[in-house]
Amino acid sequence: MLGPVILAASRSDRLRRLVSAAPVTKPVVDRFIPGESVDEIVPIVRDLTDQGLELTMDVVGEDITTPAQAEAARDAYLELIDRLKPLDLGTRAEMSVKLSMFGQALDGGHELAAANVRPVVEAAAGIGTTVTLDAEDHTTLDSMFAIHEELRQDFPQTGCVIQAYLFRTEEDARRLADSGSRVRLVKGAYKEPAEVAYQQRHEIDKAYVRVLRTLMEGGGYPMIGSHDPRLISIAQELARTAGRKLDEYEFQMLYGIRGDEHLRLAAEGHRMRVYTAYGTDWYGYFMRRLAEKPANLRFFARSVIGRG
Ligand SMILES: Cc1cc2nc3c(=O)[nH]c(=O)nc-3n(C[C@H](O)[C@H](O)[C@H](O)COP(=O)(O)OP(=O)(O)OC[C@H]3O[C@@H](n4cnc5c(N)ncnc54)[C@H](O)[C@@H]3O)c2cc1C
Repeated sequence: MLGPVILAASRSDRLRRLVSAAPVTKPVVDRFIPGESVDEIVPIVRDLTDQGLELTMDVVGEDITTPAQAEAARDAYLELIDRLKPLDLGTRAEMSVKLSMFGQALDGGHELAAANVRPVVEAAAGIGTTVTLDAEDHTTLDSMFAIHEELRQDFPQTGCVIQAYLFRTEEDARRLADSGSRVRLVKGAYKEPAEVAYQQRHEIDKAYVRVLRTLMEGGGYPMIGSHDPRLISIAQELARTAGRKLDEYEFQMLYGIRGDEHLRLAAEGHRMRVYTAYGTDWYGYFMRRLAEKPANLRFFARSVIGRG
């Protein structure tokens, strides 16, 4: 029950200011967002890739309010890509982007986000890697899928995310699997109404398996975005049944969550990609991580009380 409350709080500007400014927040945030600058994140990229992990990099930020902020977001990704170039990691370090951070919710936002994301996709291709478009709340998805389709005409490896909790996703999965796309499947992290999304965990999990089967049997490249041990073993079974080799799908997990499992799957020969977020505007990302596991919130609250 706490999850939806925390998700609602993630939209509060007052709380954003309060939580972001509290000095006690930082150590808790560091677990999920291991750096605020490119200088801090590049050594972490090196360290994780040295351990046999692959990465998808997220410069945190969303819900921006001016076109200048959208351009700054684009430039932050361009700087990151420039700094990754000498590491020569190719697809071992790809990018994840949220179109809201590229201006999608502003006036003329669809065109603005499309124009801002394209140079990032081009620059990523220039260092031999690719970009995945994250899925945000359901009102943004038609625009995201349209931009994804447009980008794929020039950069077919561009990926996108679908969310098992949404009723629309089974149909989206069929379309994307047919088109041979790279698709990350996740449960879904936003507060969605009952008109568009399953609300019960068991319903979401069942939908996840149905959608995953479609992706595994289709012609695309499935990316399994989950920490759920049951879904991970079902994914392995579905991949085997579909006759997929180990390099014909991959697992993805978030930095700071089930780190041992990242290494275990990589050691088994799986492609294991860690979603690694960094930057200063971490509030929305951080609050979604708290909402996914209320025990995180208790830990956070204890550290506030303990030091306060
Ligand atoms: C690589 C990746 C990319 C994602 N991209 C998107 C996206 O674009 N759009 C979107 O809506 N959502 C995205 N998500 C988030 C996703 O929708 C879920 O909210 C999140 O993954 C939790 O669901 P789960 O499948 O891990 O299962 P759960 O049942 O929530 O978790 C399974 C187990 O994993 C551990 N766990 C999960 N979350 C946490 C946490 N926050 N803190 C500590 N332990 C935890 C716990 O042990 C839990 O029991 C992404 C997730 C991943 C892994």
